Amino acid sequence: MIQVRTALIVGGGIAGPAAAMALRRAGIDSVVYEAHAVSAEGTGAFLTLAANGVRALRSLGADKPAVAAGFATNAITLWSGTGKRLGAAAVSATLEDGTTGYTLKRADLYQAIYEQAVGQGIRIEHGKRLIGAETTGGGVRAQFADGTNVNGDILIGCDGIYSAVRPIIHPDAPKPAYSGLINVGGYVRGVQVDASPGTYHMVFGKRAFFGYVLAPDGEVWWFANVPEPSEPDRGSLTSVNTSQWRKRLTALFADDAGPATKIIDATSHDLSGSPVHTMPRLPSWHSDRMIVIGDAAHAPSPTSGQGASLAIEDALLLGKSLRDLGPDQAFTVFEQLRRPRVERIIKQAARINNNKAATGATRIARDLLMPVMLPLFLKAIANGKPGKKLYGYQIDWDTPTPSAQK
Ligand SMILES: Cc1cc2nc3c(=O)[nH]c(=O)nc-3n(C[C@H](O)[C@H](O)[C@H](O)COP(=O)(O)OP(=O)(O)OC[C@H]3O[C@@H](n4cnc5c(N)ncnc54)[C@H](O)[C@@H]3O)c2cc1C
Repeated sequence: MIQVRTALIVGGGIAGPAAAMALRRAGIDSVVYEAHAVSAEGTGAFLTLAANGVRALRSLGADKPAVAAGFATNAITLWSGTGKRLGAAAVSATLEDGTTGYTLKRADLYQAIYEQAVGQGIRIEHGKRLIGAETTGGGVRAQFADGTNVNGDILIGCDGIYSAVRPIIHPDAPKPAYSGLINVGGYVRGVQVDASPGTYHMVFGKRAFFGYVLAPDGEVWWFANVPEPSEPDRGSLTSVNTSQWRKRLTALFADDAGPATKIIDATSHDLSGSPVHTMPRLPSWHSDRMIVIGDAAHAPSPTSGQGASLAIEDALLLGKSLRDLGPDQAFTVFEQLRRPRVERIIKQAARINNNKAATGATRIARDLLMPVMLPLFLKAIANGKPGKKLYGYQIDWDTPTPSAQK
């Protein structure tokens, strides 16, 4: 069996440093190459790290700073735009050992994982944008935009939804798919909302979707999903300024019950919008010496609340697989074990997204069916057997990795 000794990890977001920690545990040296000079991009938003993500981070000895940077979030209440309470569900089940889900700023999660990785002795090089990679006799060579090259036994693409590694593995890989939604969000203090800390409130408004959660320190964290059927050109959203966003959002939510307009009006920082993309099914996630994990392989919509958690799970399982098997077998087994889980989660989130992006006749049908269907659907996922599978997922580091199935 060829034993992997060195790995090149491309991308220093969530999957990258987590993979480096998992490889280190498996006795494999790696270096993380991150394109950005200081920290990763697009970190202004917040996210939920579900119980399964916390558990996977714990297996890497890296959960405490992430948990400390956030607040526990267990419940979600759904509202219609008319103010009707549609139902409630768990946002991330609390596991038998008390592990629960947390909401935290994306930037804080990046920072927490980054610091844990550096603390464990991982080298992270910044300003290294991968522009090419090729297999060599016994390994891989990566090329960076600054003109440098590095060699390793394998290359792990952790470079997010707009991955540069993915088209190297599969030149005909599908591009990220536009979900029909623009995401805008922010943080505000001094607004009174009728909500208890740590409970998400989600409003399926008449024209757009609004979500908010009260943090324990009184700050309200919010986001809006605005249906936009045709995909905006790259860069066109950057020309929309804060007062234009505020005007557009308050008009969209003007006829809805709930605190959306009050929250948006009171938000004083800059607002910016970004199109929501997902990564559809790839034919395969790897070649013989290169693999993509995290969003580069399978980005669910943010609606799933699982992107970061899945990226951490991927990192842990890939490390374990490479501990036990040669690269080709390890990549194959990894994909066989991971694919059913991530594709189920992507499908569930896409169903909810379709409800958010509904316009015209679809929206009318949605408004009639959703009060009955959606709470049942969410309840089944969060509180029932599917929820146990989703949040209770566990990677047992100590059991040997099985061989690939033919
Ligand atoms: C608005 C929003 C809300 C979200 N909400 C949630 C949520 O509630 N729960 C949840 O779990 N997830 C959520 N997500 C998704 C979550 O952020 C991602 O799933 C997660 O960050 C994936 O981690 P990753 O490491 O695979 O990719 P990323 O975090 O995107 O990291 C990729 C890294 O690769 C670097 N990179 C890119 N190209 C190159 C290159 N060529 N060379 C070198 N480096 C490169 C990037 O700079 C970046 O640092 C949300 C995402 C968004 C945008």
